Amino acid sequence: MKRSTTLMPVSKNPPAKVRDKGLIRLAKAGAAAYDASRDRILWLPLGKAMLERLGSGLSSRFQSAGAQPVDCGQGEGGTLPVAVRVLKTVDQLPLALMEKSGDSILLEGFDPEGSLPGWPVYAERLLSFLQERGMELSVFQEALPFGERTVIACGCDGDARGARESRTCPACGWTASVDTLLPPETPPDEEERPLEAVLTPGATTIAELCRQLGCPPGRTIKTMFYAAEKEGRTFVAAALVRGDRAVNVTKLSRALDGAVVRRAESVDLKQAGCDVAGFLGPVGLPGTVQVIADLSVAGTKNRVIGANRPETHFTGACWGRDYEAPVADISGLEPQAPCPACGKPVEKGWVRVVAEFAKGHPALPAFPSLGYLDENRKRKLPEVWRGRIQLEAIALGAAGDGDRPFRRGLSPADLLVLPLETGGTEAAKAAESLAEKLERNGWAVLLDDRVLPDGVRLAEAALVGTPLQVLVADGQEAEVIGGGGSLGRVPLEGVEPLLEPLRLD
Ligand SMILES: [Zn+2]
Repeated sequence: MKRSTTLMPVSKNPPAKVRDKGLIRLAKAGAAAYDASRDRILWLPLGKAMLERLGSGLSSRFQSAGAQPVDCGQGEGGTLPVAVRVLKTVDQLPLALMEKSGDSILLEGFDPEGSLPGWPVYAERLLSFLQERGMELSVFQEALPFGERTVIACGCDGDARGARESRTCPACGWTASVDTLLPPETPPDEEERPLEAVLTPGATTIAELCRQLGCPPGRTIKTMFYAAEKEGRTFVAAALVRGDRAVNVTKLSRALDGAVVRRAESVDLKQAGCDVAGFLGPVGLPGTVQVIADLSVAGTKNRVIGANRPETHFTGACWGRDYEAPVADISGLEPQAPCPACGKPVEKGWVRVVAEFAKGHPALPAFPSLGYLDENRKRKLPEVWRGRIQLEAIALGAAGDGDRPFRRGLSPADLLVLPLETGGTEAAKAAESLAEKLERNGWAVLLDDRVLPDGVRLAEAALVGTPLQVLVADGQEAEVIGGGGSLGRVPLEGVEPLLEPLRLD
């Protein structure tokens, strides 16, 4: 690409109303603009080229892992229109179909009935592609109101586009969104004490309760009430979580088969026959209340719980002896909670999702004839999975910070070729033929062919932020710059061999 004929409004100042650091970096480089009225990114030639290279780089990795590129018009059915027509027999499985659109890649897989989903190989390709380019990513399982998904995400600021609250462990680096699924816990074994009612006047919060009884929050159990609605039926659900945990509404909804849940108000509680708010507990609740216990509650002994009497709690409450309920993962980690990987305290942070994979497909009911014949000519249904790679989120996440250059392999252009003024027309000609040659050999090159002072063009080059620069001195020599310093001054024909080891496929 020639600088003189490419639309790239490079700017020293960040665009108005934009908080996302990645988008600010791209806008400064003249690769993108922002439409505040519709809250969307407008991709300009350089940014579009970046998304295209990112998309084709990933697609070729997925293809080499077996994915078949198709085009189905990006409808709700995804690639099912192809699958339903081509899938006949078991020897075609596993089958993975891939559809690329402007800002995302859809991957859909079909595996033999009863087998594990085949997405890990594609998730692995994505991870290695981005990690080779210096991106730090985390992978975690996350609850959805129906089911769950595997998420690949990168860290970001709270005001980044698509930022989701996370928990991160400074000690070991463990990072996941607040909806992440947590491993089951084994409470330490201890001798059961008797269930005893104790007066706790005014102790309607965990903090006050712990103050009065002199116990840590982790030894109490909170009973939180939710009004739930599913298929027109409304009911009250009681969620039991350890006192130092909070109920995660997405997980609770998932545990209630996708019911829509909200915090219960006193009128909901009265209707359900509970009227001592603040002192409610799992022992002796009305049968109309659906109780669910968190993984952090199952199996615990000698805990403090509400007694369903005014100003009273029980101590010595034991799971199995005094109360029991269906168990599910319904809590989230609060800041300072122990890290699931190493046990050190976690902190609040933010992540941006760059890819997700999940079992199932929302449009399956519209394709009832999807199926295949097994070895015995019996009709079977394939296991279906779906993945989406967000190219826009990757571009924003990779764009970095401040005015630093872009990452190698994840930048609007790989390198800038700039003929220096002192070299005159000879340098200009040499730069042009060098740029053409590098472009032919697969480099994304930006040639600054404008007749402007070096100072002006070099200042702008910093904003454009190509990871590599080639300054052509004259018709003979050039200096290659990258990684914050000079990589050497070489004869023109030595430029490509010098660059070659820095190439990323
Ligand atoms: Zn940790």
